[in-house]
Amino acid sequence: MDWVDLRSDTVTLPTPEMRVAMAEAEVGDDVYGEDPSINRLEEISAARMGKEAGLFVPSGTMGNLSAILAYCGRGDEFILGDLSHTFIFEAGGAAALGGVHPHTLENQTNGSLILEEIEDGIRPDDIHQPISRLLVLENTHNRCGGTALSVEYTRSAGDLAHQHGLKLHLDGARIFNAAIFLGVEVKELVDPADSVTFCLSKGLSAPVGSVLCGSDDFIRQARRIRKQLGGGMRQAGILAAAGIVALETMIDRLAEDHARAKLLAQGLSQIPGLVLDPGTPHTNMVFLSLGEEVPLSGTEVANKLKAQGVRVGVVSKNRFRLVTHHGIEDGDIEVAIGAFQEVMGGV
Ligand SMILES: *Cc1c(COP(=O)(O)O)cnc(C)c1O
Repeated sequence: MDWVDLRSDTVTLPTPEMRVAMAEAEVGDDVYGEDPSINRLEEISAARMGKEAGLFVPSGTMGNLSAILAYCGRGDEFILGDLSHTFIFEAGGAAALGGVHPHTLENQTNGSLILEEIEDGIRPDDIHQPISRLLVLENTHNRCGGTALSVEYTRSAGDLAHQHGLKLHLDGARIFNAAIFLGVEVKELVDPADSVTFCLSKGLSAPVGSVLCGSDDFIRQARRIRKQLGGGMRQAGILAAAGIVALETMIDRLAEDHARAKLLAQGLSQIPGLVLDPGTPHTNMVFLSLGEEVPLSGTEVANKLKAQGVRVGVVSKNRFRLVTHHGIEDGDIEVAIGAFQEVMGGV
């Protein structure tokens, strides 16, 4: 079946240009630092982020975990949002593998944490309490609707963290979506952060990988941790080659995904029984719920949509996430809206 798959931008497939680049990639042993394609990807990633160095990692999860473990020892604490990907969707890796204590603050609907709460959350020098080492922010914020944190907010949070001796790590899985939405250079957006992870394998459509960027010293440490986590790869330049094409060709087109998310939201907002989140979409995600009068659960609606060839993410009992990406054309948006009309009309 030719699905209209709106579950996630992780379902994107490598482009023909990526396939060619992968087939022709110059490779070597990256654990020896000898894979030219990986070295090049790390270099251009660092340059784009305005950081000294980069580290190719198999996943965003490993990128974030490597950063947390580089900054925090056992019993140390990191501050992060209660709806953040790192807190909810990374299998508790920081606690399980690093003994690092997560200190969650309530995420605001725009994905931010309240600065005063961050300041209050930083531990005093007291032997009873863990040592606060790190603040982690997410941009765009997945669970908060694909919302983008501004340059000004990121700067304020970074200043606050640094005043108290903490580092700032950005989970920038979709940082390019944020930069495009805000109309700013990604470099400017990540400048306040000591480190940033971004994903190649979501909207940028590469098959595998993320890149962690930061200072030379930090990346040296993170490289050791990546090895410790089993993420030292050999001729993975085959994967990095696709990542290079992703950075060179797939960033500007994210604006199309944002425009299609708007079209999708407009269409769905006309359908009785569907309640769109206020403000949705911000970037490439549409969040919506079923009205209380609808007698079906989210899963039941999703199954009916699937029978029409449309796949959506069910994120709670009656709530959906629909993500636009490289595989979704204007016609697919029409198909998706039509399928919802059909399913909701029969309710
Ligand atoms: C996808 C994602 C990650 C990393 O996920 P992996 O599946 O491990 O690559 C991290 N943070 C956010 C916000 C994400 O959406």
